[in-house]
Amino acid sequence: MDILSVASEVFPLVKTGGLADVVGALPQALAAEGIRVRTLVPGYPAVLAALGTDAVRHKIAPVFGHEAHVVSATARGLDLLVLDCPDLYGRPGGPYLGPDGQDWPDNGVRFAGLAWVAAEIGLGMLPDWQPDILHAHDWQAGLAPAYLHYRGGPRPRPRPRSRSVITVHNLAFPGKFPPSQRAALGLPPEALSADGVEFYDTISMLKAGLRFADRITTVSPGYAAEIVQEAFGMGFDGLLRDRGAAVSGILNGIDTAEWNPATDPYLAAPFEAGRWAQRARNKAALQAQLGLDVDPNALLFGVVSRLSWQKGLDLLLEALPALLAEGAQLALLGAGDAALEQGFRAAAQASPGRIGCVIGYNETLAHQMLAGSDALLVPSRFEPCGLTQLYALRYGAIPVVARVGGLGDTVIDASPMALGAGVATGVQFAAPLTWLLRTAIIRTGQLFRDKPTWRRMQLNAMAADVSWQGPARAYAALYRGMLA
Ligand code: ADP
Repeated sequence: MDILSVASEVFPLVKTGGLADVVGALPQALAAEGIRVRTLVPGYPAVLAALGTDAVRHKIAPVFGHEAHVVSATARGLDLLVLDCPDLYGRPGGPYLGPDGQDWPDNGVRFAGLAWVAAEIGLGMLPDWQPDILHAHDWQAGLAPAYLHYRGGPRPRPRPRSRSVITVHNLAFPGKFPPSQRAALGLPPEALSADGVEFYDTISMLKAGLRFADRITTVSPGYAAEIVQEAFGMGFDGLLRDRGAAVSGILNGIDTAEWNPATDPYLAAPFEAGRWAQRARNKAALQAQLGLDVDPNALLFGVVSRLSWQKGLDLLLEALPALLAEGAQLALLGAGDAALEQGFRAAAQASPGRIGCVIGYNETLAHQMLAGSDALLVPSRFEPCGLTQLYALRYGAIPVVARVGGLGDTVIDASPMALGAGVATGVQFAAPLTWLLRTAIIRTGQLFRDKPTWRRMQLNAMAADVSWQGPARAYAALYRGMLA
């Protein structure tokens, strides 16, 4: 079976978030299921620079008037089709933002171009390869199923079109553009309707995918159940309810080689389950690094997160007095909203030795935070899947999470029943209420002081299967079902 995966980022070539991790990791996991995945990505300078010597260039028709090639190549273990279109992607800056921090003004055409070429490949554009299924990720690839639906133009096509699936990594990003861009984006007039790509007087590329893909997946069963409700649906809940059985959730996995406490080169002391003395050395190192009192008995909460409304860290700011009253410490690594950055900086200044924060993005420190924290706080208002709680499980940092989306699916709350059965891996609370976060912090303190129970939870957490194996089987079953 052949899959064309289409996305605007892929780890390790270009990454701004969890999307890249998934797009980068799934192909290898699916190879074990006998499925070939080729990944279509824009030819950003960083991508073109990484291509192997096996690159083969195939000239294609201009993409919305811009000269373009599809380059077939491997890079860092990925089987790529790169859309080399210098007018659209050959520029400095990030995939979405210019050096000035603003969206590229032509993002509509840039990602419509990616989706257009994906659809053309799905319709048989390449002489030697046509996928069985086109797998679009997020809004940047969302128009691909729409172009497939409109058959990429008026001509009847000789070859059958590929089936399509879209995976939603975060419904909060609808990919909206003015309706005046319709023709420039290669959409027929009838597309501008509620039954097409129109979304509250805009064109939404995500809506296009949700409307026209044969299947819709999102990155956890919990989020799949939430997004058909108004409170979580971001305006798409009605459409998602209409799509009914086409919608499902498949959890993300993590790269268990990259995130392996036994071999992690970033750690002060690599460790395994049960080697608690080794783990304690990472805690001491982290406390020292963040300017916290080096105290093995203080419960150390960690946070590794974008600082945004979604992540609920304003609730944590409100709950800090309770955390301190519990005798606990906080180590935070994050960047984002200026108000939240300022809030945590001020909290650290007000409580030296008890609260430490590093504002910025730091991959090495992220590993050290997971290895050194006793518990990881994730108080998100919504969370499609969440990766940090999966890293936390693997590193024996007890996740303390809001019961939303993938957080609810991946953490087993230390309820009396779960503790009795010896299966608890973390603490959950109902989002997004500060007093419930406070209660969760206090409950975590009680568990932490009960050493046998805490150790048991750490062992359970570290034994949890957070690999891609299970998710890859689920994607394989989805694909097979689509072709049956
Ligand atoms: P989201 O994609 O919504 O930001 P996820 O939990 O799915 O949330 O993924 C976040 C990813 O980004 C994780 O790999 C996490 O470790 C990483 N990350 C977030 N903030 C930072 C930071 N300040 N420094 C290093 N890594 C970070």
